[in-house]
Amino acid sequence: MNSGYRGRFAPSPTGPLHFGSLIAAVASYLDAKSRGGEWLVRIEDLDPPRVVAGATDDIMRTLEACGMRCDGAVIHQSTRFDAYHAALHRLRRRGVIYPCACSRREISDSALAGIEGPVYPGTCRGGVAAGRTARALRIDTRGAGAGFEDAVQGRVRQNLETDIGDFVLYRTDHVFAYQLAVVVDDAGQGITDIVRGADLLHSTPRQIYLQQLLGYATPRYAHVPVAVNAAGEKLSKQTHAPAVDPGAPLPALIAALRFLGHAPPRELTCRSTTSRIAAPSSLWDWAIANWRIERVPRAAAVVAPLGHS
Ligand code: GLU
Repeated sequence: MNSGYRGRFAPSPTGPLHFGSLIAAVASYLDAKSRGGEWLVRIEDLDPPRVVAGATDDIMRTLEACGMRCDGAVIHQSTRFDAYHAALHRLRRRGVIYPCACSRREISDSALAGIEGPVYPGTCRGGVAAGRTARALRIDTRGAGAGFEDAVQGRVRQNLETDIGDFVLYRTDHVFAYQLAVVVDDAGQGITDIVRGADLLHSTPRQIYLQQLLGYATPRYAHVPVAVNAAGEKLSKQTHAPAVDPGAPLPALIAALRFLGHAPPRELTCRSTTSRIAAPSSLWDWAIANWRIERVPRAAAVVAPLGHS
């Protein structure tokens, strides 16, 4: 029976599923299933140059091989542009967004450093200077603060105006920003609980601010540690993180459970690590019954075990 909990995993199809993305998939899946919830998959293919052909199929095949099945249709952000336009339109009517003509260079020359790079100095808030062309739409963050209680990382508070600055929602080359799309889609899919990597912890106040302006409910959040390699880099295509093998996903699954503070008992892992079948339901039964978000390490990053990075 559905408890009303609805979680999601939202991979970007930039390559096959590696250990780092498996962590977010497993954590979101277990949190949903341990609470009698639904688990949805959303493919975040907003930015065409970053999308790799075949990556979505690879990711879906690997999730399936791991024994994680999506409850309902898989959504692709590339089919949701009307919904993003409608949200932009509502924000425009509220008078909180404005066109901006500044180049990256101009911004970095005049901005103070914030949590995630330069804080936009507000040059175009009063209008784009004559003769210049808008490159983006930004949201006014003056006076905006947002705080939340993260189930893993604890209390987070930001002053959006000084920590982040007016951020971009749309680029005039027709790319919607992740911050806008994720908020529209989480609300559209009725997501109640977001479990994802801690690299997005500092994006959450921006998302809560947008939810408030658009009249959406704010979900609960849990940001699990990001898997890094021995050099401290987040696992990614650029760091050549190996793909999880859909033909033998168990070693990666067991390592993911350990990484998340949930080491399965020996009898569930010994023989099965060499098996070439999908994860035995007994491993998931154990993991779902034993999942406690409090056991996830309260860290922004943890080094991935050897062989998985
Ligand atoms: N698409 C993002 C990623 O792959 C995740 C976004 C989210 O979970 O909000 O890192």
